[in-house]
Amino acid sequence: MSEIRQGRVEEITSHSNPRIKSIRALAMKKARDRDGLFIAEGLKLSTDALAAGWEITTLVHPKRALEDDNLRGRIEPLSATIRARGGDILTVPDKLMVALTKRDNPQVVLSVIRQKETATTDVPSGNETWLCLEKVRDPGNLGTCFRTAEALGIAQVLLVGDTTDPFALETVRATMGAFFHVPFARLSNEQLTQLAKGFRTNGGNVTGAHLEGSEDHRALDYSVGPQLLVMGNEQAGLTSEASAACDRLARIPMAGEADSLNLAVATGILTFAARNHAL
Ligand code: SAM
Repeated sequence: MSEIRQGRVEEITSHSNPRIKSIRALAMKKARDRDGLFIAEGLKLSTDALAAGWEITTLVHPKRALEDDNLRGRIEPLSATIRARGGDILTVPDKLMVALTKRDNPQVVLSVIRQKETATTDVPSGNETWLCLEKVRDPGNLGTCFRTAEALGIAQVLLVGDTTDPFALETVRATMGAFFHVPFARLSNEQLTQLAKGFRTNGGNVTGAHLEGSEDHRALDYSVGPQLLVMGNEQAGLTSEASAACDRLARIPMAGEADSLNLAVATGILTFAARNHAL
């Protein structure tokens, strides 16, 4: 077996350094797709990513952070593990950190992480709950759904159809670290239909959240067999294809004038109902 090379420590001061340019480019989806990398900001997200086995290829921090005993005590163990796994450490002046994060008060570290999708399409036989989000467009909504899913014990998140990029900075930030702990993958609508059949074959349910659902969600039982929850797009709701893959369409009753709930809020309500028996 070949040994992993120890990562390097490099001090960079120039905005035009190629490594700095390629990290800045990761703000754009095109560069993230091309390089298979993405960015997470902050000590918490970087530590979560590392603990959950994600590969941090580069950690960037201001050189000055090491002058603070508290920060040094948190950055050094992180850097040591990243280097031992082959990742590099870049130290930069404060103004370069500001430029990289596009924030006046940047987080103390920034990690460049290798993308991966780890969810499976092997239908579970037990009482796992999986969450499908169809064509979700808003990064904040997607991040909040991940956070809720992780908190309530959802085993996998599946992104169906053309969705906002899960590796976007805003999405990863909104997950508050949950992104690194919940397996996810992208699926087509045809794959969703196949998966739904598998859930039924294994004795479970496929529940779509729909404004015109015929079932009041409070009356539904989620305790027998694997459970697949399917949420719709912010503007258009569930497509007819996704609705047809479901064996029941659940409505969350509303009393006010709003025509619908926010996607992440509806996801929280339905996910809690589906996981309540297991919490
Ligand atoms: N105009 C859209 C529509 O016609 O469905 C509203 C979409 S809503 C903002 C986003 C998603 O949240 C919906 O597709 C549905 O999955 C879920 N949702 C929101 N409010 C709901 C409710 N009262 N009952 C069931 N699902 C709801």
